[in-house]
Amino acid sequence: MSIRIHGRCPSARHPMDSGDGLVVRLRPQANRLTPDQARAIAAAALRHGNGLIDLPARANMQLRGVRAQTHAALIGALAPLGLIEPDSVVAPRNIIVTPFADAATYALAEALRRALVAAPGLPHKFGFMLDCGPAPVMRDSSADIRLERSVEGGLILRATGISQGAPVTLAQAPLAMCDLARWFVAAGGIREGRGRMAQLIAQGARPKGALAPTHAPAPGLARPRPGLVAQGALVGFEFGQLQGETLAELAALGPLRLTPWRMLLIEGLHAMPDLPGLITDPRDPRLRVFACTGAPGCLQGRADARALARRLAPNLGPETIVHVSGCAKGCALPARADLTLVATPEGFDLIGNGRAGDPPSRRALSPLDILQLPEFS
Ligand code: SF4
Repeated sequence: MSIRIHGRCPSARHPMDSGDGLVVRLRPQANRLTPDQARAIAAAALRHGNGLIDLPARANMQLRGVRAQTHAALIGALAPLGLIEPDSVVAPRNIIVTPFADAATYALAEALRRALVAAPGLPHKFGFMLDCGPAPVMRDSSADIRLERSVEGGLILRATGISQGAPVTLAQAPLAMCDLARWFVAAGGIREGRGRMAQLIAQGARPKGALAPTHAPAPGLARPRPGLVAQGALVGFEFGQLQGETLAELAALGPLRLTPWRMLLIEGLHAMPDLPGLITDPRDPRLRVFACTGAPGCLQGRADARALARRLAPNLGPETIVHVSGCAKGCALPARADLTLVATPEGFDLIGNGRAGDPPSRRALSPLDILQLPEFS
């Protein structure tokens, strides 16, 4: 059975219109870029877009401000480098591979990609996560089917929403992940083309047999911060956005791994790079402020979320996480934040320990009101 896609997210061939032009989303295989690929993306962003590149939470890349007249030329420039999914390919590529992957994990990612061609039709946002290092590092990132380590150290397959997982071997994992996707479909996980694993699990459905959850996963690690790791150097960017010129400079340093944390990992470095536009200090408060494009770059934006976020960042407590959203959709951070500010036509709503769509505790605050709140002053 070949795969079908229900609904669509923006992609390279089907970009999304935004306030600053087209948004072209690239999904590099295994969330990895060779230096040539990174250089080509940088050049395309500068030549065909406004030069800005987003690092979304799904460990992919978005080129902003692309002009409709040159979209075809952009596709033509990036397709020969394997960066554009052919129109005929209908298999989802929502596979997030841990940036700390080894060669076996990358081989597994390729095996999963091939196996998914024969998987059933899935919602377009349905995702698979290979988080199979010694301890999970991507627990707060969105996915439906996760491969992790158990407390005993073996691999387990875990449906998001269930705290335990089913034991699998490395060789079994790709087909077992497809089997769990089939179970999701058969159990009624898709309604009108949409659906996520956590919703199905919340309704009481549980996989059985070889997929039955029996093993506890290893405890997850905190979200990484910029610094040196075994695979190279992790660097951050304000609001997860970088300039094309910066990407070109990073490409000169080595292959790049995309992360779900608004950071890039530059492979093989033993010292932190010193380039403009990078966040390399793990204590930088901008790492704890999430803000979407907002107005005017996003058509739904009710305010310039990033302008306010820049004013708030220097005043934050050492561990406080803040999310400033241009509307209730909350694109920049699907997870909870200590403080969330959502722009509305009347001003900003404030939500404590919640998400952008949650009920606010204060309404219609001006930026000046916010700067005078004890949490932000
Ligand atoms: S949260 Fe709203 S304003 Fe912000 S990027 Fe998403 S849709 Fe646009």
